Amino acid sequence: MQLTWEEPAPGVVRTRLRGWDETVGAIAGTEAVLLVDAGPDSVTTAALLDDLRARFPQPVRHLALTHIHFDHVLGAPALPSATRYTAKGARQLFTPEALADLVADATAHGADGDQARRDAARLTPPEVEVDSTATLDLGGRHVVLASVGPGHTASDLVVHVPDADLVFCGDLVEESGEPQAGKDAHPARWAAALDALLALGGESARYVPGHGAVVDAGFVRAQRADLARRFTADTPGSAARGNPASPHRGA
Ligand SMILES: [Zn+2]
Repeated sequence: MQLTWEEPAPGVVRTRLRGWDETVGAIAGTEAVLLVDAGPDSVTTAALLDDLRARFPQPVRHLALTHIHFDHVLGAPALPSATRYTAKGARQLFTPEALADLVADATAHGADGDQARRDAARLTPPEVEVDSTATLDLGGRHVVLASVGPGHTASDLVVHVPDADLVFCGDLVEESGEPQAGKDAHPARWAAALDALLALGGESARYVPGHGAVVDAGFVRAQRADLARRFTADTPGSAARGNPASPHRGA
């Protein structure tokens, strides 16, 4: 599997996966690597990890899952030794019923159903739910995990790399299409989540969307304004709009 990596800062890389264009990122310190999201299946993630091992000698000790959608989490079983982090409240999305929904969503979006079922069967709840913020020491580099949702989902986690002035946003920000709001989104809270994201990264940061090219604070602010307009009424059905190329539960 040929993957293309960008290096937005020294020791920070990300790839945009083929198919759904979701971001998987990696942040390396001198002691450990943090993976940001796990991709849509364990075969893809195994290939990702091969690439990362060639690039970084440090072990991938941590996995931050920005939110529980199939294209970001079903690859997690390929990395069983990592400590997994989610935003608060995400553990309840690991029940057999919720995992069956995840598989159904993956299949509806064209993923291999057998592979999705196998991965979901091995997907276990996160060890750590981040309540507000948590700081990880990767060796010579600290990263901040922040629970800024609800917004795109009930549990949205973002990852700030202060020394690189970079924030991984998950699907709270999308550049390659309109942000997806499915039935598990909290449209009325989304703008506030982006306010928290902007407060974390500040004006100078670069923001890595869940889908699409790296953007600046101005882009995030404009998307915040669009979302606020789009969901002013927060009416049923408002969640049906979105980028058809971008997978989303219930979209
Ligand atoms: Zn999503």
